[in-house]
Amino acid sequence: MVRNAGARRAKLSVDPASGRVRLTLPLRAPVKPALLWAEGQQAWIAAQRARLPRPRPLVPGALVPFGDAMLTIEWREDMPRRIERDGDMLRCGGPRDGLSRRIETWLKREALRILSAETAEFAALAGVGVTRVAVGDPRGRWGSCASSGAIRYSWRLILAPDFVRRATVAHEVAHRVHMNHGPEFHALVDRLDESDPARSRAWLRANGAALHWVGRES
Ligand SMILES: [Zn+2]
Repeated sequence: MVRNAGARRAKLSVDPASGRVRLTLPLRAPVKPALLWAEGQQAWIAAQRARLPRPRPLVPGALVPFGDAMLTIEWREDMPRRIERDGDMLRCGGPRDGLSRRIETWLKREALRILSAETAEFAALAGVGVTRVAVGDPRGRWGSCASSGAIRYSWRLILAPDFVRRATVAHEVAHRVHMNHGPEFHALVDRLDESDPARSRAWLRANGAALHWVGRES
């Protein structure tokens, strides 16, 4: 439940990235009647939930999108615990317990490695420095650039096609030169990355929420 000064009446919404139901209330609206009203909206909530992306647990045999590739998780207890990519196979051994977390850790590490390399590539093209590259798991944004020169990405960009990831990197690196979305900023993005940024934004709008369901059991 959140309060919002701009809200005129109680409103329900389902976050497509987390699946959580949110009740938004005007600042001084009483809670009890709003909760009663929300409880009466079960059918609407169920319909919204039915349209959410499917959880994609990281289990043996599962497919994991990885840039333009699609990796298959191959697990055998007696294989080395260390996760290794071999073509389109992601080989992992060790106990079945904790496998999902180990694969997610591997994906985050790969994301940081690839995003760091691409950030350095575009920063060199733009002639700017980037003090630090980090990955996290924010719900609402794919990248952010601080005035300190640090850039943070969602590690889940590694689950998106290459052109989407690269367009996001070009966008954040261009913010190292222009801290706005003006014409000069867009001209620099175009110079750094040959792909159409509108195509990448459209991809994220249509598929971004589903990336948050990778690694979820339910
Ligand atoms: Zn921006």
